[in-house]
Amino acid sequence: MAITDRFCPRCGERTNNEGLCNQCKVAETRWFSCEPKVQSVQCPSCGAIKQGNVWTDTDRNRDDLAHDLARNSVHVHPDLKSPRIDVRLNNMSSNRSYAIIIVQGLLYHLPVKGKCDIEILWQKEQCDRCNRISGSYYEGVVQIRAQGRFPSPFESQMAVSIASDIEESLQMGGERLSFISDMTETRDGLNIVVGSQHIGLLISKKVTAELGGRFTTHPKLIGEKDGKQLFRITYSVRLPRFQKRDVIKFQQKYAEVIQVESDNIRVFDFFDGKIKSVREDKIDKLIGNARNAEDAMVAFSDGNTVGIIDPLSSATRESVVGPSLKLKAGDYVRILRDDDQLIILG
Ligand SMILES: [Zn+2]
Ligand SMILES: [Zn+2]
Repeated sequence: MAITDRFCPRCGERTNNEGLCNQCKVAETRWFSCEPKVQSVQCPSCGAIKQGNVWTDTDRNRDDLAHDLARNSVHVHPDLKSPRIDVRLNNMSSNRSYAIIIVQGLLYHLPVKGKCDIEILWQKEQCDRCNRISGSYYEGVVQIRAQGRFPSPFESQMAVSIASDIEESLQMGGERLSFISDMTETRDGLNIVVGSQHIGLLISKKVTAELGGRFTTHPKLIGEKDGKQLFRITYSVRLPRFQKRDVIKFQQKYAEVIQVESDNIRVFDFFDGKIKSVREDKIDKLIGNARNAEDAMVAFSDGNTVGIIDPLSSATRESVVGPSLKLKAGDYVRILRDDDQLIILG
């Protein structure tokens, strides 16, 4: 026996270690532990889960959540190498599951394997967002109106889709209380009821950026909470009198609106094909919107006179067109009507 040989002080076996042999080290190490009971709190309305005091949206199902909870309830010793945790799940009832957990790995070069059971309690609680929505809590209303007219169906649809997109991206970013609790079309326009001032502001900015016009904010004190004043804000969005693609009449000419600035309107003149600026008060008449134009066929073209077959009456009507529009019989054009006259949009 060499003088350098060492022996385990517990079992007397030969070992290379300074102290206990590997087997005895394993035997005296509590190398894993499990929490016997864990609970999951989930919102019955929207499925959000609560960790500590924080709610988060999730699209994981109950089995996925159970596996996560089971794994997270296991604590392993830092010396355990290549740990592996397997979970077998038994769903006992709607509010209780059991999980059997097998933990294995290498500890001091020796394979180890252990088992524990945990109980998972499923609890239901209404989340912060659903609680606010069901309690009709809101922080603002975005009112979409138009100057001297009602918002068009196109504008209302655009506003609804802008608002929904903003809500979705804020929710994805974790702003749970930036929700829309109601969107209603009233006689005067669209009302969007919002859960936070942030989402109200973003909707008002995006709607005016896309559809023109401007908005003003009107806060109203509604009370006090924890020494802080609570305001509810009305975002009053005013869409411009004319909208993009409106066809207007000014100085005996017809033109299509391509851009609306504060009181200056950029139009495309159908007669000479040029882009012009017109002041709002110089516009004589709104003919309609190019989105609602009808298709009609060209019957003949003679110099700057063209004959259009009226799709309603099938009669041919003559119109004078500018040099920018080259038409021949059989072509299709889009038209709007100014009383008896057909306006060719090109
Ligand atoms: Zn030993
Ligand atoms: Zn909820």
